[in-house]
Amino acid sequence: MSTLPPSIPEFSDAEVDALRQRYRAERERRVRPDGSAQYARAEGGFGYYAEDPHAEEFDREPLHDRVEAIVLGGGFGGLCAGARLRQAGLERIRIIEKGGDFGGTWYWNRYPGIHCDIESYVYLPLLEEVGYVPKWKYSPGEEIRQHAMAIGRTFDLYRDACFQTGVTELQWDDGEWIVRTDRGDEMRATYVVVSNGTLDHPKLPGIPGIGSFRGHTFHTSRWDYGYTGGGPDGGLDGLADKRVAIIGTGATAIQVVPHVARDAAQLHVFQRTPSSVDVRDNRPTDPEWAASLEPGWHARRRENFQAVVTGRPAEVDLVDDAWTASANVLGKIIATDARADWDVDEWERVEELLDFEKMNRLRARVEEVVDDPATAELLKPWYRYGCKRPTFSDEYLKAFNRPNVALVDTADHGGVERFSENSVVVGGQEYEVDCVIFATGFEVGKSDVMTGRLPVHGRDGTRLLDAWRETGVRTLHGFCCNGFPNLFHLGALQNAPSVNFVHVLDEQAIHVGEVIAAARERGVKCVEPAVEAEIDWVATIEATSPERAWFDAECTPGYYNNEGAARPRRTFGPGPAVFQQLLRDWRSGDGIDEVLGDAN
Ligand code: NDP
Repeated sequence: MSTLPPSIPEFSDAEVDALRQRYRAERERRVRPDGSAQYARAEGGFGYYAEDPHAEEFDREPLHDRVEAIVLGGGFGGLCAGARLRQAGLERIRIIEKGGDFGGTWYWNRYPGIHCDIESYVYLPLLEEVGYVPKWKYSPGEEIRQHAMAIGRTFDLYRDACFQTGVTELQWDDGEWIVRTDRGDEMRATYVVVSNGTLDHPKLPGIPGIGSFRGHTFHTSRWDYGYTGGGPDGGLDGLADKRVAIIGTGATAIQVVPHVARDAAQLHVFQRTPSSVDVRDNRPTDPEWAASLEPGWHARRRENFQAVVTGRPAEVDLVDDAWTASANVLGKIIATDARADWDVDEWERVEELLDFEKMNRLRARVEEVVDDPATAELLKPWYRYGCKRPTFSDEYLKAFNRPNVALVDTADHGGVERFSENSVVVGGQEYEVDCVIFATGFEVGKSDVMTGRLPVHGRDGTRLLDAWRETGVRTLHGFCCNGFPNLFHLGALQNAPSVNFVHVLDEQAIHVGEVIAAARERGVKCVEPAVEAEIDWVATIEATSPERAWFDAECTPGYYNNEGAARPRRTFGPGPAVFQQLLRDWRSGDGIDEVLGDAN
């Protein structure tokens, strides 16, 4: 039987009640009746917020050709798919990407201060294949983008790539897919892998007057260096005489604020919910350590990180940072196996106490760093750890000690209320600014297939979303569906996500690559699960999906809990490590016959 974590923090009943009440009150202050509908998409009249500042538009003739595989999305998911398909022996692999180059979210996001907030030795994929060891424990965005491009070169993925191209329709036609695009292309491919949409579409708050503000505005994912000057390392000299507003205080703003604070004449940070801000402690890679790495180091380290943050047994904590410390300190809060022997109520009581202790430490950190007590009070996060994406910075909180920086709390007003021609308005007070920077995030995890923006017509012309409307979402392992042969979805659908999402995507890409390799070896033309296999998998998801709706329901609103209107997450409960092993066993055993059947 497992033992409880070594020390259970002591809280009196009164302290527990007070914290619970405070959390509830802070949530109530922020829940909005319009939920996710409060946001506007960066399209139509706001389309310019999503324009590409990094590449010149170019013309090309529409393509009417045939390749072996088409991958939608040139971010790390698509690149991993491309690489793994190359390893599976495919010659013609075409990645189709809306941006002007590979990198996905790292192509779009180049804001000052941009860094990976997960250790780069576990976050960046295909490090050994490319022969690269990141230069920092937490890589700057440009290093990550360069690595994405290096993957493209290493696996010869530029040859057939189509950039600045959006796929508009997928249609199954007599044994292959027709892929239509917004450039008039009509390409054919045996296999299609969909890997787009995770942090793709910038979103804006639907604030009245947003269109009538006369100053300069842009979204952090399309940083306008033409206006601010400088680059991702800072030096924003164009802001020296500017009054700037940053709206939002999520993981992006935490990285941006210190730079704008340093360089702008005046900065107002408009906060609705404060982030939890833990220690960063970035440092350059030790060259001796890099030289000592043995083959297989990358997979071992990734698996170790995954084990620690998902509460799996791990003898060592190789990454040993604030992510893993939190998972350890909280008694592996997301643990599944680790708490299996415990009475649920008892475990949840202990978990809550550890959580209070962790969050108290983070709130104390705010008090230690921020000089002005009133500002410090506003910056304290009052919710359970993980309600919002945890953030890490040794600079963010300090920025509020600068005389040119002010924090504006918008919590009681549902956020920024409106814009006038020259101001941001909160609680009836006008804050005159020259420039508004939206650090308001993305539509997270909604691929165009799932939203219906990209219609997918399978066998007999059936539309995927229509099929799912009748049966509920039905896949085998989250990847493939009956009636839609040779089509693979990467992402969080009906499988086991984790914080190191690129690792999850790479494991998925490995799986898809090996399934396709097996199909080719056996001369199977259509990879397609039987309906029964899908039904069994959905039953597995239903039976194991973690019952965390109560946790989401008590959190302050945000995209993690569908803006406070929590909906059950449908994921594989035992977690990513067990899921990945399940896939390996499935591939090496009879399971794979479920999608390959007889040679056809
Ligand atoms: P988020 O969605 O996390 O944050 C958006 C922010 O905008 C929130 O603080 C939100 O407040 C605020 N906001 C929205 N509407 C209003 C309004 N009307 N008035 C005032 N404030 C408003 O977006 P981010 O870009 O910060 O992060 C998105 C994701 O990107 C992260 O969760 C993370 O997964 C990823 N990321 C990863 C990094 C990495 O290194 N791997 C680095 C940066 C981001 P509220 O919380 O109250 O809704």
